[in-house]
Amino acid sequence: MTVLSQSPRDYLDQISFKIRPVFDQPLDVLTSVRVGGKADYFFELTQIDEIVQVLRFVSEFQLPFFIMGKGTNLLVPDSGFRGAVIKLGGDFKKMALQQDRLVSGAGVSDQQLARFAKNHALGGLEFLKTIPGSVGGAVYMNAGAHGESVGDRLKEVRTLDLQGNRHNYSIKELDLAYRRSRFSDSPEIILEAEFELTPKPIDEIQDKENRLLDIRKKTQPVGKKTWGSVFKNPANASAGRLIEELGFKGKSFGGAMISEKHANFIENKNGASFEDLLKAIDEIKQSVFNKYGIELETEGRILRNLFK
Ligand SMILES: Cc1cc2nc3c(=O)[nH]c(=O)nc-3n(C[C@H](O)[C@H](O)[C@H](O)COP(=O)(O)OP(=O)(O)OC[C@H]3O[C@@H](n4cnc5c(N)ncnc54)[C@H](O)[C@@H]3O)c2cc1C
Repeated sequence: MTVLSQSPRDYLDQISFKIRPVFDQPLDVLTSVRVGGKADYFFELTQIDEIVQVLRFVSEFQLPFFIMGKGTNLLVPDSGFRGAVIKLGGDFKKMALQQDRLVSGAGVSDQQLARFAKNHALGGLEFLKTIPGSVGGAVYMNAGAHGESVGDRLKEVRTLDLQGNRHNYSIKELDLAYRRSRFSDSPEIILEAEFELTPKPIDEIQDKENRLLDIRKKTQPVGKKTWGSVFKNPANASAGRLIEELGFKGKSFGGAMISEKHANFIENKNGASFEDLLKAIDEIKQSVFNKYGIELETEGRILRNLFK
């Protein structure tokens, strides 16, 4: 029997995945804004050979495919995703020190990485304590805060391309810019990242983390259902300030509300739909353009097929 005469589910039953997919996995619960429908196939993968098997599966059946981290910069349509979503667990949640380098799996959370560095008296990643994503998402987005970004400390990144070939990129090859990397245009699966850190007393690291967390609590809607900053800051301006000046703070769009604390955050206040979020984004973009002639660019990603 050829592969294409089988259904994707029959195929999955026959191959030897150690971890079975979850069918019809709700994705809202896997995102920080808690919006979105179901994915047909959801895999939490622990090893590279499992990723290769899933890549083969989606390629055989020409299914859409997406990799998510902790879903903290992600919008999922209410219609969900008629394909396979993967998330990295197992081996990808490991960290190790190799001489002066800290090597982290892409599935490690930013906060676990910051804690590991602190426990080994290595400074430079304190700002990650304030960002709720994963190392894979942080590399993909070149995440940053308080004037620092992941790219300041990254040395190498190991990936798997969508054909299953392995790559090793040096910092120069990552094309990092403000909330961008080479993967923004040409997605690959980020497996592991290597950071170079600076020895620093643990109490100094702790003080810096406390200071940054304090600023965050005072200025942003910490603990609310959001997906981080909605828009990138335009050159020489603050997106939040432009939006605030237009009176958007506290304004509702269905179940979504522009944060009263920081106008560049939209909260899922009351069962917001994907459409509510898009309506808010569109209206803000239009108003900012009409008033200032500035085209705001969204920072977060919408879940869609990586192959396109
Ligand atoms: C309250 C709050 C505060 C935030 N503050 C900040 C901030 O200060 N600075 C900042 O930069 N961001 C901030 N963010 C946004 C977000 O946390 C970061 O962008 C984070 O790096 C996204 O990581 P993630 O694992 O959640 O990625 P996801 O949201 O799951 O995915 C984001 C993108 O990364 C890709 N991706 C994730 N993992 C991989 C992988 N292993 N391989 C390939 N691609 C991958 C996805 O395909 C997707 O395109 C904030 C978010 C929230 C909710």
